[in-house]
Amino acid sequence: MADNEDELVDYDEEEEAANVSADKSGEAKDTKKGHYVGIHASGFKDFLLKPELLRAIVDAGFEHPSEVQHETIPQAVLGGDIVCQAKSGMGKTAVFTLATLHQLSVEDDKVACLVLCHTRELAFQIAHEYERFSKYLPQVKTAVFYGGVNIKTNREILKNDCPHVVVGTPGRILGLARDKDLKLDSIKHFVLDECDRVLESLEMRRDIQEIFKLTPHEKQVMLFSATLSKEIRPVCKKFCQDPMEIFVDDETKLTLHGLQLYYAKLSEAEKNRKLNDLLDALEFNQVVIFVSKVARAKELNRLLTDCNFPSICIHGGMKQDERIKQYKSFKDFNARILVATDLFGRGIDIERVNVVINYDFPDESDQFLHRVGRAGRFGTKGIAVSFVSSDQDKEILSQIQSRFEVNIPELPDEIDMSTYAAA
Ligand code: ADP
Repeated sequence: MADNEDELVDYDEEEEAANVSADKSGEAKDTKKGHYVGIHASGFKDFLLKPELLRAIVDAGFEHPSEVQHETIPQAVLGGDIVCQAKSGMGKTAVFTLATLHQLSVEDDKVACLVLCHTRELAFQIAHEYERFSKYLPQVKTAVFYGGVNIKTNREILKNDCPHVVVGTPGRILGLARDKDLKLDSIKHFVLDECDRVLESLEMRRDIQEIFKLTPHEKQVMLFSATLSKEIRPVCKKFCQDPMEIFVDDETKLTLHGLQLYYAKLSEAEKNRKLNDLLDALEFNQVVIFVSKVARAKELNRLLTDCNFPSICIHGGMKQDERIKQYKSFKDFNARILVATDLFGRGIDIERVNVVINYDFPDESDQFLHRVGRAGRFGTKGIAVSFVSSDQDKEILSQIQSRFEVNIPELPDEIDMSTYAAA
C-alpha cells in the first residue's frame, strides 16, 4: 500500500497549543516532590496494584497519591470507562499508565493498549512514563509512533517486535492502522490524553473516530484532560459506555495555586531589555520563554546565546528528532532557558521550571493557562511574567483576569524570592 503519510496531518505543527510539559521520564530520584493540598493521605499500597508497579512507584519518588490518583485509580483498575478532568500537573498520566499496566497481560505479542495525544513531545513523554512504571515488568514492551520520523522504522518494530503498549499522535497511528501495520483488533485499553484538544479539532476528531472504529467493541476507554468544557463533554462520552465521570477541581484553581502572576507593560522595542533584566534578577531553576512565532523563537534564542545565556529553543520549524533532542536536553537540565512557541505548551512537564515568561502575550486565555502551567508542577512554586505591549494584549489580559477570577498585578520592582523559588 502506498505510503499515505503525506495525507495525514501533522497536528502538532499547527503550533497552537504548545505545551511544555517536560519531565515524566525520570530515573529514581530521592528528591521529594512538591506538596499539594490535594494530596491524599492514603498510600499507593491501598490500590492493590501489582507489586512490580509498587516498586516502580517507590523508585519514581511518589510518596502519596494525588487527589486525582486517589479518586481515579481504584476505578480505572477495574476496567470501566472513565472521563476525568483534573488540573494539570497533578499526575493524570500515572493514573492511566498504572491502571493499564496493572491490567495488562502479555501472553502474546499483540497491541493491547493504545494511547493517543496531540503532540509528539507529549507522546514521547507518556511513552517514557510507561517505560518507567514497567521497569519491573520486563516483558512489557512500549513503542511510540509519531509523524516526522520514518514510518518504515515504525513498521519494522510492529512486524518484528510487536509492542503491547502503543503511544502516538493520531495522524501517524491512523496511517499505520490503515496500512494494517498496526493491528488494533486486540486493543483492550483505549486512552485519549488532553482529550479536549484532540477532539476539538474536527480533523483530529475524524482520525480518532476512524482509529476507534478499528478497535474491538469491548474495551476500556479512558479520556483525560485538564480542561473539559461543557460542549466537549458529550463528545467525550460518545466514545464511552456508561463512563465514570471524575472532575477534580477546575484548571484555574489548579494552575494558579502557588503561582505568582505579573504583567509588565512595555513597547515591543523594550522587550529584550526587560527580558535581560528579568533573567538577571530572577532566581530561576529553569525558565520557559514563550513567543508567538517560529522566526521570533529563533531570533530570540540567537540573541540570548549571543549574550551568553544558556538558552535553547524548540519550535514547529524543527525536524522531529531535533525537537525531541532539545526537549530532552532541557529536561536533563543541560540548558536552563528554553525559548518556545506554543508547540511546547500543554501537558509538558518539566519539574524544574519555576519561571515562565510570556515574551509575546498569548492570543487567547486558554493558552495563557497552558503556558503558565509549565511552572509550578505538582504543587511546586513558580512565577509567570507576561509582557503586555498592544491593545489586544491588554484586552486578553483583562479577559484572563475575569475568566479565571485572578488579579494579575503589574510587576513590582522587587519580588520576594521565597514566593517562587524552592526553599
Ligand atoms: P498531568 O498529566 O495531570 O498534567 P503529570 O502526569 O504530567 O500531570 O504529572 C506531573 C508531575 O508530577 C510529573 O513529574 C509526575 O512524575 C509527578 N507526579 C505524579 N504523581 C505524583 C505523586 N503521586 N507523587 C509525586 N509526584 C507525582
